Amino acid sequence: MEINRKSFIGGSLFAGVLAACPAMARAANEKAGVKPPKPKAKTPGMESLTELFRIGHGPSSSHTMGPFAASEKFLKKNPNAKRFEATLYGSLSATGRGHFTDKAITDVLGAERTKVIWSKEEKAFHPNGLELKAFDASDKCVDTWLCYSVGGGALAEEGKVSSVPKLYQLDTMDKIVDWCEKNNKPIWALVDEVEGKKGIWQYLDKVHKTMNDCIASGLKKTDVLPGGLKLARKAQNIYRQSRHFDDDARRTALLAAYAYAVNEENASLGVVVTAPTCGSCGTVPAVIRYMEQAHHLNKDEVLAALAVAGLVGNVAKQNGSISGAEAGCQAEVGVAAAMAAAAASYLLGGTPRQIQYAAAMALEHFLGLTCDPVKGLVQIPCIERNAVAANRAMISAELSLLGDGNRFFSYDKIVTVMLETGHDLPAIYRETSEGGLAKHFVGGC
Ligand code: SF4
Repeated sequence: MEINRKSFIGGSLFAGVLAACPAMARAANEKAGVKPPKPKAKTPGMESLTELFRIGHGPSSSHTMGPFAASEKFLKKNPNAKRFEATLYGSLSATGRGHFTDKAITDVLGAERTKVIWSKEEKAFHPNGLELKAFDASDKCVDTWLCYSVGGGALAEEGKVSSVPKLYQLDTMDKIVDWCEKNNKPIWALVDEVEGKKGIWQYLDKVHKTMNDCIASGLKKTDVLPGGLKLARKAQNIYRQSRHFDDDARRTALLAAYAYAVNEENASLGVVVTAPTCGSCGTVPAVIRYMEQAHHLNKDEVLAALAVAGLVGNVAKQNGSISGAEAGCQAEVGVAAAMAAAAASYLLGGTPRQIQYAAAMALEHFLGLTCDPVKGLVQIPCIERNAVAANRAMISAELSLLGDGNRFFSYDKIVTVMLETGHDLPAIYRETSEGGLAKHFVGGC
């Protein structure tokens, strides 16, 4: 299906109204021939936290980590291929250059023997389609694989059930909180029960170290980020300025400095942890690092907080989305804020119900957040947005402690609304860089 995005943009002058009105948004999408992503039937249960917190190179889990992993898999299957073709569909094609998707693929398959094709077509299964073809010495196509990078670095194939085991039977926050209350256990105890003997604590320790290394590395640098926006790093300067501030302002600045440091590393292809994605990788580390220092946390407390954040992210991944191309930035930075808020609420002494409240509040107030990265780079608005999300996560955590944890809309309900809202968003607001800030960028900052 060919998408005429130009005519769609032209017909979307009242995009704000469209975003606010699902029926109009759906009608506009249909008129432009852009079908919203198909809601996918998911098998019950949740995967290991190791599938959520992935360690790898930025700047994008869906646009670089996923295609990188797909290329590695395809190369392993076709080690003797003479040449390859990689066709990028939908959002992968629209923002792949800024996200370095072509580099991720050719780094694996070989730039000299790989042709990258930027298609305007968008597949109905998911906006991030990637088709790989292998050719033999007589230029006969010997293998074709169509896969989808569905967010957080994960891959999926239409009509195929994922081979990744579903370890967690409890796959909603309501079920998790009920389990905690019935058994008088904290949320992290579920992670221990399901994955404790499978090495999850050692893995979370590695996640924690990688996050802190990333902050340290980001705070040391002052260069200009790659990609053409000529955006200078800000983390170190914000960190220095935080020393002059009083307590409240210092907290704001420190959370921002840590988030900037991680996201600036991500923007320059550094090693990050998806939490839940690369674009949103600064929010959770910023909050964990701030809490670690401000409250002199020990290692067990930090790892427990990461486990809590992981379950909150996993629920969004299972029942909603963590893909900006599928559901806008609410699915990335919104979910990151929920994860960070839950971790902070736990560290401040929140009950499981109050922790759920913190996550719900953080995500609810990011509902509708669009994805419109300028020039397709994971820089504007992504970097600053993580700094804002880290601060909002802390506020949500603190507010969660002021009540008993019961609220009108639970985290599960907000996740459902987030997915529906994302599917109602016009495609120009789902990681295509054709609307919003990206549309209004006129060549200078
Ligand atoms: S705007 Fe949000 S969803 Fe889009 S690339 Fe940036 S961080 Fe990811």
